[in-house]
Amino acid sequence: MYVFTTVDALKAHLHARRQEGKLWGLVPTMGALHEGHLSLVRRSNAENDFTVATLYVNPTQFNNPDDLARYPRTFDADRAMLESAGCQVLFAPTDAEMYPAPTTLRFSFGDLETVMEGQFRPGHFNGVATVVAKLFHHAEPAVAYFGQKDLQQFAVIRRLVQDLAFPLRLVRCPIVREPDGLAMSSRNRRLEPEARKVAAVLSYALREAAEALQKTRNPEAARGLIGQIFYPIEGVFLEYFEVVDAASLQPVTTPEDHDEVALCIAAYVGEVRLIDNLIVTRGGVQ
Ligand code: AMP
Repeated sequence: MYVFTTVDALKAHLHARRQEGKLWGLVPTMGALHEGHLSLVRRSNAENDFTVATLYVNPTQFNNPDDLARYPRTFDADRAMLESAGCQVLFAPTDAEMYPAPTTLRFSFGDLETVMEGQFRPGHFNGVATVVAKLFHHAEPAVAYFGQKDLQQFAVIRRLVQDLAFPLRLVRCPIVREPDGLAMSSRNRRLEPEARKVAAVLSYALREAAEALQKTRNPEAARGLIGQIFYPIEGVFLEYFEVVDAASLQPVTTPEDHDEVALCIAAYVGEVRLIDNLIVTRGGVQ
């Protein structure tokens, strides 16, 4: 696996590969890797000549400085995992390389960012869009892979790609879960043992709510159930639960009129903020 820390070195390598007629997939990550990240790498490997993974904890997308400071950093383990998953190129830049000058650019994603993560993490998607746009320019992938785990991020990036005409295709990959249903996340390793057990309630509640939604076609029934499940549990604070269209992210009242209805949840389990979602389609639940 080639490891590059500068944009110039990455570009020189990729331009040579382009001369050979190769096309590659991009998998942006913030490290502290797990099977969820590796599933993106494997998918990209299967669909492209090779994969470029990026590993960069992007400071501009953290609205909470504490969260940034505590974000796990495990470079050596990440590098080994990427290599064993068959990743061929790793780009791991410094802050100075990614932000040679402070950025003042501001994006507006309209309705996509007034809800859920956009509402509770002001400025978050501006930082995401800034870094992802830079990574697209630096890596020039044919395809970029993102997880359904961050569904709102996917919707924002889709708009970024459309509005700025990035010449690439986006792929949304399914959520990889622990055996008890907890969605894999770099943040899970910050959960204390007791909190780790309780954290499975997010995915459990989503499954129950999805079943209620399929039976009743009433988002309020799903919402009621979520309240009942979370109310008695100590140490867990439900931040939001929303039933939205998976593309527009706007609240849904008649699920049968939408191709994909997403049930999205965010909760603090102890000190750790976790998000998860399920997508209900006419064919089933993803
Ligand atoms: P992150 O390092 O958290 O920024 O995540 C990098 C990419 O991996 C994003 O596109 C995430 O949506 C994706 N991802 C994170 N967790 C999972 C998971 N459990 N299953 C699938 N993809 C994931």
